[in-house]
Amino acid sequence: MIDYSSRISYRSQSLRPSEIREILSLTEGKNIISLAGGLPGPEVFPKQQLADIAKRVLEDLGEEALQYSPTLGVTPFRNAIMSFASSKGIKVNEDDRVAVTTGSQEAIYLIGLSLIDPGDNIIVEAPTYLAALNAFRFFGANFISIPLDEDGMKVEMIENEIKKGIESGKKIKAIYTVATSHNPTGVIMNDERRKHLIEIANKYDLLIIEDDPYGFFVFDTDKRFTSLKTLDTEGRVIYMGTFSKILAPGLRLGYMIAPRQFTRTVELGKQIVDLHSSTLSQFIAMYAIKEGVVDETIENARKVYRKKRDVLIEALEEYMPKGSEWYKPKGGLFAFVYLPKGVDTTEMLPTAINKGVAYVPGRNFFADGSGGNAMRINFSYPSIDKLREGIKIIGETAKEMMK
Ligand SMILES: *Cc1c(COP(=O)(O)O)cnc(C)c1O
Repeated sequence: MIDYSSRISYRSQSLRPSEIREILSLTEGKNIISLAGGLPGPEVFPKQQLADIAKRVLEDLGEEALQYSPTLGVTPFRNAIMSFASSKGIKVNEDDRVAVTTGSQEAIYLIGLSLIDPGDNIIVEAPTYLAALNAFRFFGANFISIPLDEDGMKVEMIENEIKKGIESGKKIKAIYTVATSHNPTGVIMNDERRKHLIEIANKYDLLIIEDDPYGFFVFDTDKRFTSLKTLDTEGRVIYMGTFSKILAPGLRLGYMIAPRQFTRTVELGKQIVDLHSSTLSQFIAMYAIKEGVVDETIENARKVYRKKRDVLIEALEEYMPKGSEWYKPKGGLFAFVYLPKGVDTTEMLPTAINKGVAYVPGRNFFADGSGGNAMRINFSYPSIDKLREGIKIIGETAKEMMK
């Protein structure tokens, strides 16, 4: 058999496996409680409604739904996304266009493809979304990491970092943020910091990439946090949403709302990646928006996840070793837990998996390699019993590691 390794492009030689996907493949088919993935709770999927909708889409629009379609999405679906976003308080400007993508992961990839030259710097939260780090890194991005607290990114620290960066000749392109119900910590950026972030972007002429999968999953208040897109007056915010958490990730549908000039570049990139996202999925999601299935799913999931979040916090308090710390997730699907200093969660993982539970080691979520004693725990996927049991095992494993 021939050897492919010498034939792989330089660019692809730099690809590293996603630790989450690797962990998921280790746990597959085994009886392991996985707190590692970012999977929605399967009990939240509107299975019956989607079965009915899929049937009607094929009956009503079969020829269209099974056909190739435009790169940026089918027009009635793009219009439905515009109305949906507006109805949730996300300001859409006259000059903005919707680009439908194959999950927001493709949107992240296309943003990287469209914006990042090797050596460009992206400002990120520390910790931040692992899959964005990996995609931006592939295009040669460097990162400027800004710590966060329970009110989100410490925006007051950014300006100093930008000044230092500029002095040392760094080209800074954009700020990437999951401002509401952050992955992996579940914190929410407060209103003052949101305003300040926009001011900084204006002052230093930066773009903002607002990744917003969880804007509708805020647990303890009905207040909606004003999106950065809504606060922006200069067309600097590239907004991303997804149907993965509010309907079903298997549909692989995400979207971007951004000024036309930018979505045009994204369109050219998408033409060489996948021509267009699934036409059938787009019509199914369109019906689901129009018939209120998306809103029902959001309301149901919010209740289910809030309950699971509460169970998780109780279990953490009961089982984690003294000196452990975490943010109480205000929304989203995750909690980020710091074990006492000195415990290495990467080293601990094989033991935890042997005992029957998986999580993602914290280091993955930091561009600067910190977070060695942290771990991300997903609470949306496991049942309440498994969640409690999983935390009990993690707590016991950590206590053994500390001996
Ligand atoms: C889950 C999630 C997404 C969604 O990814 P899809 O490709 O749309 O499934 C995007 N960003 C963050 C931060 C997430 O947690």
